[in-house]
Amino acid sequence: MKSFCLSLLTLLGLLVLSMNALAQQPSPPLTVTTYDSLTAIVNRLDQQSEYITNEVIGQSVNGRNIVAMKFSAGNFGMDNNKLKVLIFAQQHGNEQSGKEGALMLAHWLLMKENTWLLNHLDLALIPQVNPDGAEANKRRNGNNMDLNRNHLILTEPETQALHHFFDQHLFEVTLDVHEYAPYGDDWKQFGYRKNTEVALGGCTNLGVDKQLRSLANQEALPFMMDYIRRAGFSSFVYCPGGPPEIDYIRHSTFDINDGRQSFGIQQTFSFIQEGMNGEDLFADNISRRAAGQMTGMTALLQFAAENRSLIKQQVNDSRRAIYVDSLQTRVSIQSIHLSDGSILELPLWSYFTGKDTVVRVQDYRPTVGTLTDVEWPEGYLIPLQNTDLLAWTARHGMKSVSLPENGVKFERYFIHAIDSIDFERDIIVDPVTEKSETSLADDTEYLFFPTAQLKGRLLVIAMEPKSMLGLVTYDRYKNHLKEKTYFPVIRVVKK
Ligand SMILES: [Zn+2]
Repeated sequence: MKSFCLSLLTLLGLLVLSMNALAQQPSPPLTVTTYDSLTAIVNRLDQQSEYITNEVIGQSVNGRNIVAMKFSAGNFGMDNNKLKVLIFAQQHGNEQSGKEGALMLAHWLLMKENTWLLNHLDLALIPQVNPDGAEANKRRNGNNMDLNRNHLILTEPETQALHHFFDQHLFEVTLDVHEYAPYGDDWKQFGYRKNTEVALGGCTNLGVDKQLRSLANQEALPFMMDYIRRAGFSSFVYCPGGPPEIDYIRHSTFDINDGRQSFGIQQTFSFIQEGMNGEDLFADNISRRAAGQMTGMTALLQFAAENRSLIKQQVNDSRRAIYVDSLQTRVSIQSIHLSDGSILELPLWSYFTGKDTVVRVQDYRPTVGTLTDVEWPEGYLIPLQNTDLLAWTARHGMKSVSLPENGVKFERYFIHAIDSIDFERDIIVDPVTEKSETSLADDTEYLFFPTAQLKGRLLVIAMEPKSMLGLVTYDRYKNHLKEKTYFPVIRVVKK
């Protein structure tokens, strides 16, 4: 009798638990939402809810709207006590679950047990950055460009819209939502594949303030992974690279051309989330994929709301440091993934047993070190005739000011030769440069871009000719590197 009572109680408990869980979850999609349906849904929510104001932030290559749903319990962006959060999904059109998760999140936030978050946060939610790719279920946009490699050169209307929107509000927290595909042949041959439903990563570029990186790694990521697991989804740190024994495993890229690090380098508390693609890369298992993505987003909102003062303070400190403390700063322009001596216990799914397991990875390089760094300059002089580079600064909304009259000197780079270097298994240019002091014949032939601006670190990483993340590594700008000539951009440093 006793055991019967217990199991009845357990059963009742489970029933209550699952009813609670159901009550707290909007229904997941049964199929993939089209652009037209998405437009109808977000417009309806805007009309129905006083918490939402939609804004069309731009158009795709093929003229589709990119919509930000602005959630606020007051006037969006006007209350300095609230933390401003930006979540954006589906930069890659064939990663459908990010958009679906975002739509679920919109419904979830309007449930009365969740609206308390909006007393602490203003959230801008962009369910679909790449509507053209989404409609074709293709990774790239209408110009066949990979948007998540475009955040530095910013040539595409979709990334331009996103950054312009960011610049207007200066969000303190950002989350870029993706999916990864674990089904590659190299993994199949290895005998295991990744099976994490919601993988998460913080910033790794060394130009992102150290305190922001450690708050992410030591506090936010463990909290979020635990939250996601308790909701019934598997979660782990996003670990590209591998398969083990063939290539090393790292924590994503330190490049600043993606959605996470391009905001991180502006000292934003910035993350990437990677759900798991379905095997058909489309509608397979879409309900669960969407629910997992939504859960990751709610995990971030929960952490952000609970730690809003700390996050706000650290973001503000880190942003101020660009202006104030930068004299002591050196900027890493060539970096490398390094081991910290630890062995990674990587959760994988075994092709041999058909079950989840853990594989110990010896070649694990979780930290980033510097190969080459440069002294923090006061700014850069770009020749007026260099319309390419000036157009780039304009796309980023960078400010030029008048050149300081005194106390500065000028440096230029001579390019002796152009070697190459391994960058996360890509071979890219590595010029042999020699820096020397120079004088300016006529400073009216240049515009001066100071590093004392929010995009100051981005500016240094972009402009240095030896930067492995710089503009010269892109086809569009490679003509700026010519052997036996001077690099056209001049560094301005303190005397
Ligand atoms: Zn992606």
